[in-house]
Amino acid sequence: MQFRIGSGHDTHRLAAGRPLILGGVVIPHDKGLVGHSDADAVLHAVTDALLGAAGLGDIGDAYPDTDPRYLGADSRVFLTETLAKLNLLGWRVVNLDVTIFAQEPKLGPVKATIRASLAELLAVSLDCVNVKAKTGEKVGHIGRAEAIGTHAVVLIEKAISHQLSAVSKTEPVPTAG
Ligand SMILES: [Zn+2]
Repeated sequence: MQFRIGSGHDTHRLAAGRPLILGGVVIPHDKGLVGHSDADAVLHAVTDALLGAAGLGDIGDAYPDTDPRYLGADSRVFLTETLAKLNLLGWRVVNLDVTIFAQEPKLGPVKATIRASLAELLAVSLDCVNVKAKTGEKVGHIGRAEAIGTHAVVLIEKAISHQLSAVSKTEPVPTAG
C-alpha cells in the first residue's frame, strides 16, 4: 500500500439569516455561515484535505467562488465529486479526523450526527471518522462567535500497482547454479 496524508482548513463568518450547515448537517441556530456556496466549513476543509492528500490543488481551483454555478451550491457535491476523482486514481480513504472550532452553538449534541454524515459521504465505516468540537475560549473571531472554523486531516491509501511489478520484471533473473 501507498499512503498519503492531507490537511484542510476553512473558516466562514457567522451571520443572521443563513442556515447553519456543518458536515452536510443542518444545525438549528439563529445564525449561519456566509459564503458563495452553502458555506459548509467542515465539508470545505475535508474536501481540501482530500485534494491535498492526492496532490490535486485546492477547493478554490476546483470550485471557484467567482463561478455563478456554485452560488448557493450544496457542498456535499464538492466532497463527493472530489472523492470520485480520487477513487478514479485508485485512492481510498483510510480515516478522517476533523476538529470544528465554534463558540456557539454548542456542537456536543450534533457531533455524532456530523460524524455519521461524513462517514456516509466518504463511504467509509463510522470508526474511520472522528469529529471533535472546540470553542474559541471567548477570544478572537471564533471566540466572539463571529466565525466557525474547521481543521481536517485525512489519510488515503492506494494499492501499489504495476509500476513496482514493472520494476521487478526488469531486475536480472538470478541464474541457477
Ligand atoms: Zn469554505
